[in-house]
Amino acid sequence: MSDLSTDFRLPSGCPACGSHRMQVSEVKNPDDKVFCASCRRYICLWHEAESALEHGPSSETEALIEKAANRKDD
Ligand SMILES: [Zn+2]
Repeated sequence: MSDLSTDFRLPSGCPACGSHRMQVSEVKNPDDKVFCASCRRYICLWHEAESALEHGPSSETEALIEKAANRKDD
């Protein structure tokens, strides 16, 4: 029962397939490895992913929000 994992969304996508869906063990130890949920590529350690999540929306997301806001001005 040591292979239980949970999905989460990472602001920066997988460098191999571009997916934002990642998997990490349910215990989420700081040094647990994070893998891409699509292609199983190793992405980073959980503490690195956690600090990326704490930074909030990525600049990519902010750009999309800005685009949508500008569209409303038309
Ligand atoms: Zn991937």
